[in-house]
Amino acid sequence: MINWTRYNPIGEEEKQAVQSVLDSGVLSKYIGSWGADFLGGEQVQCFEKEFAQYFDVKHAVSFNSLTSGLISALGAIGISPGDEVIVSPWTMSATATAILVWGGIPIFADIEDTYYGLSPQDVAAKITHKTKAVMVTNVFGHGAKLDELKTICDAHNLHLIEDNAQAPGIAYQNTFCGTWGAIGGFSLNYHKHIHTGEGGVCVTNDDELALKMQLIRNHAEASIVGSPISDLTNMVGYNFRMGEMEAAIGRQQLIKLPRLLKKNIHQANHFIDQVQRSGYITLPAVEASSGHAYYVLPMQVPEGSRPNIIENLNHYHLQGIMPGYVNVHTLPMYKQRIAFGGGYPWNLSETDMATAEAHCPVAEHLHNHTFLGFLISMYDLTTDELDELTNILLKVVDDVCGAS
Ligand SMILES: *Cc1c(COP(=O)(O)O)cnc(C)c1O
Repeated sequence: MINWTRYNPIGEEEKQAVQSVLDSGVLSKYIGSWGADFLGGEQVQCFEKEFAQYFDVKHAVSFNSLTSGLISALGAIGISPGDEVIVSPWTMSATATAILVWGGIPIFADIEDTYYGLSPQDVAAKITHKTKAVMVTNVFGHGAKLDELKTICDAHNLHLIEDNAQAPGIAYQNTFCGTWGAIGGFSLNYHKHIHTGEGGVCVTNDDELALKMQLIRNHAEASIVGSPISDLTNMVGYNFRMGEMEAAIGRQQLIKLPRLLKKNIHQANHFIDQVQRSGYITLPAVEASSGHAYYVLPMQVPEGSRPNIIENLNHYHLQGIMPGYVNVHTLPMYKQRIAFGGGYPWNLSETDMATAEAHCPVAEHLHNHTFLGFLISMYDLTTDELDELTNILLKVVDDVCGAS
């Protein structure tokens, strides 16, 4: 029997950290005006300092979610109504809605089927004179082709923004995922490798981008009184602040990140060792001098076999099986261009790219036919349980594919 209890990374350390915040009576210390508390309380500031040290970046800016973080990031780089931002369809919807919030038009480029990140070729093909940024998602736990994407962005003077919610602490070509672009975002929601319930962090080496994110996070009132920024574009403030208890938990979770990653990688490696006997299953690729966080263990099965594989797997009551992944560009909002009243921001379209309906054939084919993921990070399976799981998978896939 496989124990499908979700893995719980919260322990005594987090309890004690929360207790001491409660004892202090200061659950959040933020003040919107310029001054000592503009950047939050002790736990928030310590968490950000430790996060920045861990990832070897100059600034870490915490938020109440990564959704808030991505909205702030897109505001900080100055996205204006009608600007185009190239984004992956294989991500969470928040990556694309962060563009819309500032009136930007998301342009979906296709993915490649090795790491499931943005295809550098398709990104290059979708650049117009209105393109301002490329938002890449390091999906499932492996970096997208960040080196090639960075080269393209640098050549066209575009901001590269990384949604790194699924690959914390993982390198791509010896550099941490999330630190390749102008800004990189990490999520701390319940489902991620480390979590604070809800929360997010954006990292950057750029002083001005950090300051703008701090202003957007905290009402942006301070932008008018004695702040050092001269460009007041997008200084539309929100309350995206993280509380002291979440920050205190985050500090403990950050310490545990290497161990939690190791657990995942260990499970995934055993799974892969067993499943590679199959001649029918395509296992995840890992680029040399990179790693994989295995938020999801991505696989592919032969054309036409997936419906029968899923039906047969259903008899075993397995959990964490994902036939396909989201194709954000197929959401009605994007197909019908109806985000805000009157069709804004698409009514500002200046290029054919912005008016054309998005087609991402690789992403669509994988989603509709051949992709099969396993949400391995949710569980802490023993070697015996992994053997049981992989034996079921091997038997089902062999039965379905061998028969045809
Ligand atoms: C989880 C996730 C987010 C959103 O994170 P929240 O903290 O829940 O807002 C964004 N992008 C990706 C790729 C994610 O997996």
